Amino acid sequence: MSRFAQIVTHLKRHYGAPAVPPAKGPFELVLWENACYLLPDERRLEVFEALRREVGLTAADLNAASDEVLLPLAKRGGMRPETRVFRWREIARITLNQFDGDLDSILKLPYAAAKKALKQFPNIGDPGAEKILLLCGVANGLPLESNGLRVLVRLGWGRLQKDYGKTYRSVQDAIKPELPAKAEALKDAHLLLRTHGKELCKDKGPLCHQCPVSAECSYAQTTAASFMRAVPQR
Ligand code: SF4
Repeated sequence: MSRFAQIVTHLKRHYGAPAVPPAKGPFELVLWENACYLLPDERRLEVFEALRREVGLTAADLNAASDEVLLPLAKRGGMRPETRVFRWREIARITLNQFDGDLDSILKLPYAAAKKALKQFPNIGDPGAEKILLLCGVANGLPLESNGLRVLVRLGWGRLQKDYGKTYRSVQDAIKPELPAKAEALKDAHLLLRTHGKELCKDKGPLCHQCPVSAECSYAQTTAASFMRAVPQR
């Protein structure tokens, strides 16, 4: 078993099977990504489920909804609700005009074309498009969001650089030989690394003393060594 697989196994033992978003298929997942801004997952869920209940989760439903219905829902999703409504309408418009209302059709395209199709939607860049495809069971590597990226850098893959994109690429290059092939295993890894970054391996003040993979962690070992150097020896 690769070191990467061992770490994911430890994380799964610690956190349990990872929770997947309630959004199903590319259209709902694009909407999920655009449900709120800089708010916790609980609020994203609240806005998404309100859209399901009060509008419907198809491009036609969203397109037909009035601003009077959409704006109060968008306000629950944080700052700039008008922009959010605009983006929801864009999501509906692109899906109706370019995909005949059925964004599932992109899952039949070659990977690069499916990714390109998703990147037309608001707030969906390369990692976002890869994540949506992964959650739909289509994988080509391991997309990472900021939490997962931080965890892997601390565990010793890649190199932290000022430029986020360079850090991202260095981690991707480093983990590539160890990645599992199956989409299901990659999905678990993506979700567990994200959970670990949010729960214990926090940006400021990681809780290394509670961490199930601390024995594997270069960051924790370096921090402990610096601490020992700083403590006066008798
Ligand atoms: S030991 Fe600390 S820094 Fe390393 S992965 Fe665990 S929480 Fe993160």
